[in-house]
Amino acid sequence: MKYLTLLFLFFGTTLVLGQDNFTVADSLLLGRYTLAAQGEDFKLQPEAAKAFTAMRKAALNDSIRINVVSSFRSYSSQKRIWNRKYKRFVASGMSPTAAIEKIIEYSTLPGTSRHHWGTDIDLVLGNVEVEGDILSETHFHDGGAFEKLRLWLEKNAVTYGFVLVYTRDNSRKGFFYEPWHYSYAPLSKAYLKQYRERNLIQKMAQDTSIFGHEYLSKAFMEKYYAANVLGINPTLK
Ligand SMILES: [Zn+2]
Repeated sequence: MKYLTLLFLFFGTTLVLGQDNFTVADSLLLGRYTLAAQGEDFKLQPEAAKAFTAMRKAALNDSIRINVVSSFRSYSSQKRIWNRKYKRFVASGMSPTAAIEKIIEYSTLPGTSRHHWGTDIDLVLGNVEVEGDILSETHFHDGGAFEKLRLWLEKNAVTYGFVLVYTRDNSRKGFFYEPWHYSYAPLSKAYLKQYRERNLIQKMAQDTSIFGHEYLSKAFMEKYYAANVLGINPTLK
């Protein structure tokens, strides 16, 4: 009887915790690690990579060639992006706080990017030339070059576990609409949960090699967290 109770406890717990029953290191959540390339043009966690490869194959069967613009990105690459933009905006005459506000329209503070997790990916249509910035909303709507990719992903991505993060929803706070940015939900939901529980956000502002770090006050970080980290598609929370 005792044995049966133990057995029940073991399996019962496994059933209740299900997919969330694993923990990941702070270093993963903050992008302070490296991830091996899976396939020729992307880096994702193995489970997400497998799902993405299956989705890509299905798209190709429908004559949609998917190109990856960005997948895993480390803390240090994100810091390079941040610092380059900060320098450029301040040099153009913006105040430090205005520069930071401008950066966070599309770019994250190092340590807060979903691309650190190896679950998120930016996608465009292959074999198509566009003018200007490749990741621009205009290409995905109103007859733009990537519109057929957007329509395909809106219909099919969820079958493979991929969910649009920054939706076209005026009530959503934080980053602007990004029709190209998808997240592998079975992993990223669990990662976000742990990221929230460990309150990792306040650590970022202490990195003095981030340009403008002296303007990243506690109040700013709290606002940024609420809007830019949590201002996502509710199905990912
Ligand atoms: Zn992205």
